Amino acid sequence: MNITEEKQQQTNMLRVKDKVAVITGAGSGIGRAAALLLAKHGAKVCLIDLNNNRSETVEKQINELGGESLFIDTDVSDPDRVNKAIQAAFEQWGRIDIVFANAGINGVVSPIEDMTPEAWDHTLTTNLKGTFLTVKYAIPHMKKNGGSIIITSSINGSRKFSGIGMSAYSSSKAGQIAFAKMAALELANYKIRVNVICPGAIQTNIGESTKETPQLDKIKIPVKYPEGSQPLEHGPGQPEQVADLVLFLASQESSHISGTEVFIDGAETLL
Ligand code: NAD
Repeated sequence: MNITEEKQQQTNMLRVKDKVAVITGAGSGIGRAAALLLAKHGAKVCLIDLNNNRSETVEKQINELGGESLFIDTDVSDPDRVNKAIQAAFEQWGRIDIVFANAGINGVVSPIEDMTPEAWDHTLTTNLKGTFLTVKYAIPHMKKNGGSIIITSSINGSRKFSGIGMSAYSSSKAGQIAFAKMAALELANYKIRVNVICPGAIQTNIGESTKETPQLDKIKIPVKYPEGSQPLEHGPGQPEQVADLVLFLASQESSHISGTEVFIDGAETLL
């Protein structure tokens, strides 16, 4: 194989070449890993996150790799800002093909009787309404060419209900699965696929968004789970492993998959 053919083959291996991806929660953890991987595979990436140094670092890393990215400081629970951020991505690159609605928080972990309505709202507004807003404002830009939407839910609220005190989080994650399926059917006419990923424990910065209340002790179930509760890994998964799944669902390789949830948990929920 000569150099030209080799270069051509490398280009062909870029699985989302020239696609435009919008990723929320792109500054950290799973969103960051997906942003880097999609950029390596040829996508231009709009990074949506709260204003922190992490997102700018991701933007810099992608640009250093020779890719194109644009960080937009946006709270996903704010309709106006989400609309403007997605509009800005469209204006920059003229299309949107991939949406990874991934931003999320654990929020307050508390007995239900002690959970304040404000804490409940904050988790639901960030995780579930944020997903709705991201998808809603992307649709007008995706209708012409079709595309792929991927939503990050969780094993919590779908296969696992032992996250004691996480009633708000699990409800938001269950809601995302129903929303993904409704959207998959509604958007099929536009050739927009919608899938939802359900990670088990992944090593990220999500602990920073967790606020345990002192009352939690009273509802803890006296069961000690064994260390390394993921049979496949003997520990939490890595964000890069989830990014591989996101790339697959974003690419043409998953062209006949829509409305499906994919569990990525090292068999954690089979225990
Ligand atoms: P992370 O904390 O490392 O990353 C989440 C990102 O979302 C952060 O950069 C944060 O700033 C951003 N974010 C939070 N609130 C936001 C808002 N209102 N607007 C914009 N951005 C906001 O955590 P992660 O583990 O990578 O989480 C990503 C997704 O994965 C979340 O939806 C989470 O629920 C889900 N998840 C994580 C795990 C895990 O074990 N880490 C397991 C299952 C599901």
